Amino acid sequence: MQALLSVSDKTGILEFARELHQLGVRLLSTGGTAKLLADAGLPVTEVAEHTGFPEMLDGRVKTLHPKVHGGLLARADLPEHVAAMQAHGITRIDILAVNLYPFEATVAKPGCTLEDAIENIDIGGPAMVRSAAKNWKDVVVLTDASQYAGVLAELKTGGLSGISRKTRFALSVAAYNRIANYDAAISNYLSSVQLGDDGQPAAPAEYAGQANSNFVKLQDLRYGENPHQTAAFYRDLYPAPGSLVTAKQLQGKELSYNNIADADAAWECVKTFDTPACVIVKHANPCGVAVGKDALEAYGKAFKTDPTSAFGGILAFNRTVDGAVAQAITVANKHFVEVLMAPAYTPEALEIFKSKVNVRVLAIPLDGVKRDSKNAWERGLNSHDVKRVGSGLLIQTADNHELQRDDLKVVTKLAPTPQQIDDLLFAWKVAKFVKSNAIVFCSGGMTMGVGAGQMSRLDSARIASIKAEHAGLSLKGTAVASDAFFPFRDGLDVVAEAGATCVIQPGGSMRDQEVIAAADERGIAMVFSGVRHFRH
Ligand code: 5GP
Repeated sequence: MQALLSVSDKTGILEFARELHQLGVRLLSTGGTAKLLADAGLPVTEVAEHTGFPEMLDGRVKTLHPKVHGGLLARADLPEHVAAMQAHGITRIDILAVNLYPFEATVAKPGCTLEDAIENIDIGGPAMVRSAAKNWKDVVVLTDASQYAGVLAELKTGGLSGISRKTRFALSVAAYNRIANYDAAISNYLSSVQLGDDGQPAAPAEYAGQANSNFVKLQDLRYGENPHQTAAFYRDLYPAPGSLVTAKQLQGKELSYNNIADADAAWECVKTFDTPACVIVKHANPCGVAVGKDALEAYGKAFKTDPTSAFGGILAFNRTVDGAVAQAITVANKHFVEVLMAPAYTPEALEIFKSKVNVRVLAIPLDGVKRDSKNAWERGLNSHDVKRVGSGLLIQTADNHELQRDDLKVVTKLAPTPQQIDDLLFAWKVAKFVKSNAIVFCSGGMTMGVGAGQMSRLDSARIASIKAEHAGLSLKGTAVASDAFFPFRDGLDVVAEAGATCVIQPGGSMRDQEVIAAADERGIAMVFSGVRHFRH
């Protein structure tokens, strides 16, 4: 029995080889792997010695030889194959264990050069894996360390013929899957490279805007949205500065699928504020957003919006979290938080969170984000959104629109005061991150009532005011944002009766005039944004 072992990732290979040796298997191996085995005292024959041909060209040619591929491809059931092997002095390779040059890990490293990437394209490894996997009835092919134990167990009980057809076939399929993924990673990477004048991949900013971005697996997740779903977390090959995937987890349990989705909603929202801001998200919707003179004030206001929903929420800050903020969260409010995000934390804050072992504390520096850049990537944003639909994929450019003061069009007799305009712009920013239909009441830089995800705008408006009432907040004199136009005056009537005195909405309804007349009748100042922010 003969096995060829040639692995880049040497995890578990020594133990595997030792057991094979104990079972009487002859070991063949390539340079680095052979050295590891020999150093551990195992008898091993280098492939170069086996073929009579040295490894050459910096390892580009190690195993590409008929003695290797003949040994992998010859069929045991065909006499002419057996005769050809004998004629050419080829011996059968019964077991092949290969894992490939780490191409994916290499290109995932920041600043990877094209040369580095190319040198990490394995040629001989995939060739051997293909040969062995094609000849799956005669060759057992292992492409991952997790497969070693199962094969050893079958070998021990029944020898080579004890490794079942099922196992051999499953290993062959796994091998082709691995090769397909490997080739896809190479093809994706090379397709994304735009060469600069220096012959190197251009600065990442130049990749921004490409819909065919490439993804690198960050981790498998325990499960998906629900426990019966499997899931994994991938990141862009070139993550934007200040993006969620660049987060460093400082403490707490592993992030779950829902944690990541909610954290993203909170982080994307808080990033849009230039002044100190705090966003609390629950089930993908903001349940408290506020700006303040500092993080502490912003948090206090955001929490007041809806303390009930804030429990078990995701908390995001765009400023350093200090001891006072940490105290307010953990002691004053006894606020149970699933995930906490901020660009940085003071040592005092971290010390306080240590006692809350389950809180996942993430640091995501925002220094690299250029808020005024025209380029979404430089602003730390995705250029495209992707959504899966039955047997298809919806791709769109991301909703990165930011409304400016000058974009507002006053449509009522009454114009909003500068203070009201501040609140309207604030409410509009928040509404963009609330699932449609979104109605958001705000005042003094804080959310006062959020109505989210209803099938009727009217119900969103009603829910927002009910929530404000439950939180003990008065909506008198508030500003309201509606993510899409009011199709009838009834929505406006509801927010006016709740106490709102100014409204921002896109406009564009057939009944705009009816809605404007209703606002005038009630003495409400209304502005049109000219932009809609559906979020489904
Ligand atoms: P070692 O560390 O044993 O010297 O090298 C192991 C690696 O070499 C494995 O990842 C294997 O896939 C790869 N490899 C084996 N044969 C060849 C070959 O002929 N050409 C290239 N480029 N890589 C090979």
